[in-house]
Amino acid sequence: MKQLEELKQHLAEVNDLDMAGSVLNWDQSTYMPPGGAPARARQLATLARLSFEKFTDPVVGRLLDELRSYEESLPYDSDDASLIRVIRRNYERAIKVPPAFHSELTAHQSRAFQLWIEARPANNFKLVLPALEKTLDYSRRLANYYPGYQHIADPLIDDADYGMKVETVKAVFGQLIEKLVPIVNSITSQEPTDDSCLREYYPEAAQMAFCKDVVKQLGFDYRRGRHDKTYHPFTASFSIGDVRITTRIKENYLGECLYSMIHEAGHAMYEQGVCKDYEGTLLANGTSAGVHESQSRLWENVVGRSRGFWEYFYPKLQSVFPEQLTGVSMDTFYRAVNKVEKSLIRTDADEVTYNLHVMLRFDLELLLLEDKLAVKDLPDAWQAMYKEYFGIYAPDDRDGVLQDSHWYAGIIGGSFQGYTLGNILGAQFYASAIKDFPEIPSEISSGNFAPLLGWLQKNVYQSGSKFTAPELIERVTGGPMTIEPYIHYLVEKYGEIYHLGEYL
Ligand code: ZN
Repeated sequence: MKQLEELKQHLAEVNDLDMAGSVLNWDQSTYMPPGGAPARARQLATLARLSFEKFTDPVVGRLLDELRSYEESLPYDSDDASLIRVIRRNYERAIKVPPAFHSELTAHQSRAFQLWIEARPANNFKLVLPALEKTLDYSRRLANYYPGYQHIADPLIDDADYGMKVETVKAVFGQLIEKLVPIVNSITSQEPTDDSCLREYYPEAAQMAFCKDVVKQLGFDYRRGRHDKTYHPFTASFSIGDVRITTRIKENYLGECLYSMIHEAGHAMYEQGVCKDYEGTLLANGTSAGVHESQSRLWENVVGRSRGFWEYFYPKLQSVFPEQLTGVSMDTFYRAVNKVEKSLIRTDADEVTYNLHVMLRFDLELLLLEDKLAVKDLPDAWQAMYKEYFGIYAPDDRDGVLQDSHWYAGIIGGSFQGYTLGNILGAQFYASAIKDFPEIPSEISSGNFAPLLGWLQKNVYQSGSKFTAPELIERVTGGPMTIEPYIHYLVEKYGEIYHLGEYL
């Protein structure tokens, strides 16, 4: 098909511009000296502008029109039909936003982010307040370029989790919170777990070497990836053959490097596992924020905090750190990595309380967008929600409303739901994998992660962005998203660690 080849060629150049931007971004977050910041911001803005102009070029619309009958003649799940469909969806989304608004918003976001970088350590919400008020205004205006929505946050959620709506997310979160609160309360009313074995002195080089062995054994392919240090861990995918993870290390806390590296390796194995034919196209990445997070959380928590995982890795860890871990039983260590507590910081939260942090941010985003909460009252609303959900107050805004960069670097709406959708979906996918291969848990105990990775590659990874999240979930699990496998997983796992039976 001549038009399809022309379209692919045009969009491959858009992809090249985007990937060049990603490399610059990755470099900025890993090795760039601080003096490079002003020039780097300009370089990134130029690449983003060129990419946007090229992607929204009317030639794309013309080719899509000419390809419509070809697309309709193909089966829905064929590669060509899927590629045309995904290009069409992204193109139609992109051309609704005037280019001037796009650049205005990008420039505003970079200013707001710079203010947040100053405001957080200074504990000064007032410094970012005017910028955040503008961000809320921009977020509403952005949503209004997509009229016909049910809820003003729907178009914003669509961007990260296409096919999900406020209504869907609210319904799932409502069911989840009902089940979750009694579990959290019953655990946190018990004697706190002693995790001091994780807080010994663990030298950096030995930690890094151990973590590298772990992610390599899980299936992260170092011939098509690498790891580096950063401040906020992330995964950067430049092509299917070059997917990089980043991590941070604390020498007085073993959990930091290990779990951020497994988490990012989960994201990266998804990207490395996409069908190679999709290289350089819009099908070459994970399908949504929620499905992406399902893979990082599955590997980090369902696998990396499981008893079977540690049955295999704990003797190895003990031999790397004999002074720190001799005399610490496997059971003590397993409980330490699964400590549950009510805490203030989302990124440090355990897998049980984590969702409460996400759900309260989701609620606050909706209140702001619905005009039921003013930005100036956000710090108080934040504190009130933490009091309601956790029974604790942050000592200051630094560990309260200023803790996450999302609203300051991006828009308000759609930025947080993916994390909890990821927890739910990770458990749902894992339950389906076990149904197909009941030997997966015992293979994990003997250090063989290939059956699980192979199942995920075949069922989730290789299709890239071909299917929307709801379509993929239906195809892989035989039904829509449901919280049952996740709740079952939590009750079974934490019931054994904390004896929930007496409390629930
Ligand atoms: Zn993640």
